[in-house]
This record gives sequence, C-alpha cells and structure tokens, in this order.
Amino acid sequence: MKKRKSLEEYTIGILKGDRSSLAQAITLVESTLFEDRKMGTQLVQDLLPHTGNSIRIGITGVPGVGKSTFIESFGMHLLNSGRKVAVLAIDPSSQKGKGSILGDKTRMEKLAADERAFIRPSPSGHSLGGVSAKTREAMLLCEAAGFDTILIETVGVGQSETAVRNMVDFFLLLMLSGAGDELQGIKKGIMEMADGLVINKADGDNIKASKLARQHYLQALHLFPPNESNWYPKVELVSSTEGTGLDETWGMIEAFEQSTKSKGFWRKNRASQRSKWLEESMYNLLLEEFSKNQSVRKVLAEFENEIESGKVSPQWLAQKALESFLSNK
Ligand code: GDP
Repeated sequence: MKKRKSLEEYTIGILKGDRSSLAQAITLVESTLFEDRKMGTQLVQDLLPHTGNSIRIGITGVPGVGKSTFIESFGMHLLNSGRKVAVLAIDPSSQKGKGSILGDKTRMEKLAADERAFIRPSPSGHSLGGVSAKTREAMLLCEAAGFDTILIETVGVGQSETAVRNMVDFFLLLMLSGAGDELQGIKKGIMEMADGLVINKADGDNIKASKLARQHYLQALHLFPPNESNWYPKVELVSSTEGTGLDETWGMIEAFEQSTKSKGFWRKNRASQRSKWLEESMYNLLLEEFSKNQSVRKVLAEFENEIESGKVSPQWLAQKALESFLSNK
C-alpha cells in the first residue's frame, strides 16, 4: 500500500479538487481498519464546512432499464452545461460475487474518461448499513472537492433504495414502457419514494408506447397520498442513447429544488437525514463492537449446537450475550 497522506495533506488536496486525494480519502473511509476509519471520520468532520452545496440525486431502476446508459448521457449533458458531476454507487448485490454495478470498466466509458467527472464504484463486502454510511461520507468528500451534482446509482430491487432515499435530495426512478405490466418488476413502495420518473428508451418504435406509459404512471402517481415535500412527481420521456429528454429531466430536478427550498422542505429533509445517519452510525458501531467482542463470541460459541438443534431460544442467548458484553466492558 502507498504511503498514507497526513490528515492535512488530504484536506488540502481535496479542497484543491485533486482527484487522487479524493479517491484515496474515499478508500480511507471505506477501510475496515480501525485507524484508517478513525482518520477518515476526522477528515469528513474537518471538511464538513465545505460540504452540502450540491444537489444529491439518487437513481434507481431494474437491471436493464438503462441506468448506466442514462447516467452516462445525463452526466455528460450536465458536464457540458458547466456542472461538476460525481457518480457513486450502492450495490449490496456485489457482495454475492456478481461484481459491483460500476465495477465493469466498460460502463460509462465517456464519463469515466472525462476529466471533469468523478466516478466511484461501491465498496463491496460490507453490510448494507456499512455501505450506505460509507457512501454518505464519500458524498461529503466529493462535495468538499467541489462537485456540485452527486449522482448515486443503485439497483432497483429492494433494500438499497431506502438507504439511498435517505441520503439524497431527489430520487429518480427509471422505468420502461412495457407490455401492459408496467408496475411489475419494481415494487410499489419504490415508486412511492420517487420524486420523478424517467421512462427510458423512448425512441424508435417505442415512442408511442412510452407516451402511453407516461399517462399511466402519472395517473398511478396521483393515487399516492402527497408527501411532506408538497411536490408532485413528474414523468419525463428520455432516450439515453439519443440524448433526448435530458434537458427536461434536469428541468424537473431544478423545479423540485426551487420548490422545496422555498417551502423549507429541502433543509428539513437534510436535517432529518442527519438524524437518521446518526442513528445508523451508532447502530453500526455498536453492532460491530458487539459482534467482535471476545466474551460475546465465547458465549455464542458455547451455545452453537443448542441454537442449531433448537434447544435454546435465540432471544435467550442474545440476552446472555448482552449481559456478558456489559459485564466485560
Ligand atoms: P442498466 O442495467 O440499468 O445499467 O442498463 P444499461 O445501461 O446497461 O442498458 C441496458 C441495455 O439497454 C443496453 O443494451 C443499452 O444499450 C440499452 N439502452 C439503454 N438506454 C437506452 C435507450 O435510451 N434507448 C435504447 N433503444 N436502448 C437503450
């Protein structure tokens, strides 16, 4: 491993917008080593006054909907209009050996090669809680490095959506016009979380079906009770391959920003996200301490067979482990 920079070197490097300092600092916050993580946490704390000035956008959709193609086109579009774009990803499935969703270097080729952008695959091998905590820190580091538009990608298959929803300002759901089963493949709960929908692949023979799907989704979205933001989700038609609808999509996000900032929701949402982050951080730290604690491990090992055969109640053993943890502090 390369020689580690000092805290000050990281701080100066990141504030200068230096990519390699940023990349190394993200590695630091992703590290499972106690010392690294401590330093990473301190770095985020030191840089905190330089964070927060971005728009944070979560992007989700089922595999194949065109997320990476969309992020590539949309990202390039934003770069060309002068925005500074960073792309992060959350992908719990990467733990199962499928590889990270951004792991494949052929994805987002143009964006990855563009010096103005910063792309970072998700860390793998951690619990979802751990991954999302690290993604939050990575996001703040990107902001301190001057990125004003953070795109966080996730696969549209469940738990990770809530994690991403809890760290972004705007949650964008990518959909396809389909053979009448538009609501399938994506859980209703995910649609309810969306601030905006994009119907991707609205090109060629698909345009007519996409327009119909737009009507369908607008109706479906109106059935949901209005949420706290007082914002009605919009639906845009996009062709990521042809680059159409990108301007409108950005317009929708800007309108959301304007509306929720003027109504105070923007700030309120970020504040409640910080409380959630604190809660998650405490939970994760405690869980980690608990599960690596020697006396806890000993108690668990002692009753392994009884748990296996069902002779003791898991709740009883957890209680016993807790008592042992507390008395060995
Ligand atoms: P992901 O799994 O959601 O990241 O999807 P990809 O970005 O890998 O796209 C899946 C497939 O859909 C690829 O073959 C893309 O070329 C294709 N695709 C993506 N966006 C569009 C689009 O706007 N129009 C058309 N016709 N094809 C698209």
